[in-house]
Amino acid sequence: QTFNSLELARPILKGLAALGYVKPSAIQSAAIPVALLGKDIIAGAVTGSGKTAAFMIPILERLVYKPSNVPTTRVIIITPTRELAIQIADVGKKIAQFLPKVSFGLAVGGLNLRQQELQLQKKPDIVIATPGRLVDHLKNSMNFNVDSLDILVLDEADRMLEDGFQEELKEILDILPKKRQTMLFSATMNSKIKQLISLSLDKPVRLMI
Ligand code: AMP
Repeated sequence: QTFNSLELARPILKGLAALGYVKPSAIQSAAIPVALLGKDIIAGAVTGSGKTAAFMIPILERLVYKPSNVPTTRVIIITPTRELAIQIADVGKKIAQFLPKVSFGLAVGGLNLRQQELQLQKKPDIVIATPGRLVDHLKNSMNFNVDSLDILVLDEADRMLEDGFQEELKEILDILPKKRQTMLFSATMNSKIKQLISLSLDKPVRLMI
């Protein structure tokens, strides 16, 4: 199987080709068709499995085929660390390089809060965040509006819980709109993750690769 057989939008196929991605990895083959249907997903996937593109490709497809008329944040990706957030943004921008209208923003700890606020005010389509800083912005940034959220990704969910972000994630889930698609990625499963799953997902499809 190649990416071409997944019938993705041409600019996305071009972006994947530019990155040298020809064949989808196992997690990509499993997740992309299900995610394109709009279903919630739980994916057991480790770093190195290609999970970033597994969620980024369906996200970009949604933005292409269901564009919004006005600038608005449609997607939030939550990941444990600033470094991971920056990596996800880099991969996303490369896959989206032939989609000039798609914009990315960061809401991560360790970077200037005010500068990020200004960036979020511009309503980037895709915001990549770490849990603590996202809570900060959701509570305190007047012009960061998440009412049009369409897709939420919880990346490395097990690591976020190990790092003690359970409370932040609960607060975030309380604030975000309930009507949305959610994709959760985790290398391991335990009772804490099961609790997070029941809080965040609706009739998820389980993909254990
Ligand atoms: P990830 O698990 O998302 O961190 O990806 C692990 C590595 O695999 C990264 O260096 C990606 O650029 C690369 N990668 C992801 N998907 C593919 C693919 N379909 N073909 C070739 N390389 C890929």
